[in-house]
Amino acid sequence: MLTRLYHHPIFAEHLTGPGHPERPERMAAVATALEAEAFQNLDRMLAPEGSLEAVYRCHPADYVRKIAKATPEDGLTRIDGDTVISPRSFAAVLHSVGAACAGVDDVVAGTARNVFVASRPPGHHAERATAMGFCLFNQAAIAARHAQAVHGLERVAIVDWDVHHGNGTQDIFFDDPSVFYASTHEMPLYPGTGAREETGVGNIVNAPLRTGDGSDEFREAFGSVVLPALDRFRPDLVIVSAGFDAHHRDPLANLNLVEADYDWATGKLLEIADRRAGGRLVSLLEGGYDLRGLGQSTASHVQRLMIG
Ligand SMILES: [Zn+2]
Repeated sequence: MLTRLYHHPIFAEHLTGPGHPERPERMAAVATALEAEAFQNLDRMLAPEGSLEAVYRCHPADYVRKIAKATPEDGLTRIDGDTVISPRSFAAVLHSVGAACAGVDDVVAGTARNVFVASRPPGHHAERATAMGFCLFNQAAIAARHAQAVHGLERVAIVDWDVHHGNGTQDIFFDDPSVFYASTHEMPLYPGTGAREETGVGNIVNAPLRTGDGSDEFREAFGSVVLPALDRFRPDLVIVSAGFDAHHRDPLANLNLVEADYDWATGKLLEIADRRAGGRLVSLLEGGYDLRGLGQSTASHVQRLMIG
């Protein structure tokens, strides 16, 4: 069984305007990094379009309609200071949702060992009824609900190592003990949530890091806080909110991770997925705004997914 990669040219058609860090070139950076010899056995698939039914499991229909109606015929619509919609954004985010759900289908069916979805826009800041932080729909949350509703998995874990806290994912599952959410993130930093004391109904684990922290502090927090809690949760599926903006080159934050940290963290998650979840792991790209850091970090992550 292979590692499957979902990609689609539409992910580069979501436009955000000049100077925006969450830009179409991110997709080319990831694609180029995954063209290396080491990735010739990646099972590459085009992302299918997702269903509104899947989206509605996390976002109210009114909200989805609002996003659809905000879609301009040309030019850009600004939802807030950071979050922008262009004519193809709705189609792009629906394909991103579709790939996340297809990834769950694949690992449940056993047609892939694990899955990486190289899509944009990212999703972890999208709350139930609020688009923010470059995010429209919360793909990780939608994939978790899809696993429960369509495949009957009971316990789904989402692990988020993006440098920003996934306030949206936390919002959606704050009172739901069937979904575990754990995050390492820089604090204080956008969006301001993610304090250690935010624990939901015991299903939320926040392990904030401080400005300037690097590999040692990340591995300590991930290894001593996130991983033991994940293991105790006994997930049936592990979803990764894989942002690569904690990389030392990233312009939006101030942590100092290196590519090897993503290799290490991926290996640790695979160990728990193997032990608890039959190896089922679906990883979704979130942030990462330095093109070189993004490409190299993605390559380390996906290579570890392939090696196991
Ligand atoms: Zn981020």
